Amino acid sequence: MPRCSGVKRDNSQCERIVGESNAYCFAHDPLRKEERSANASKAGKGNRSKVSRDLHSLLDDLTERVVGGGLEPYPASVAGQLVGVRLRLLEFERRLKETDELEAKLDEMAEALERQKEKSAYGSAG
Ligand SMILES: [Zn+2]
Repeated sequence: MPRCSGVKRDNSQCERIVGESNAYCFAHDPLRKEERSANASKAGKGNRSKVSRDLHSLLDDLTERVVGGGLEPYPASVAGQLVGVRLRLLEFERRLKETDELEAKLDEMAEALERQKEKSAYGSAG
């Protein structure tokens, strides 16, 4: 079976099996670059990242009020806690991104499997 002509990030040859009419897998096809970046930005704009955007603006607001003295008492302590919260939020976002990337890979694998199934169904129907 033909393999993708793409080169992976570590400069080794991509080992994905491609269809006979394709020289590249989905990840390496130069013609599907736009589609890939559209998928990637879609993955970054789901409901979950709206939650983290909301949290960010809430934290911005709270931080500003604490620093501006509008929020009593112990503004320094509260600001310290807010920084801690933001750090946890950043860690959460990092894990979210990892999960999204894994989901995209799984989708890609499921698609490839589906295509193979279709192919063999055609084959047995003759
Ligand atoms: Zn490839």
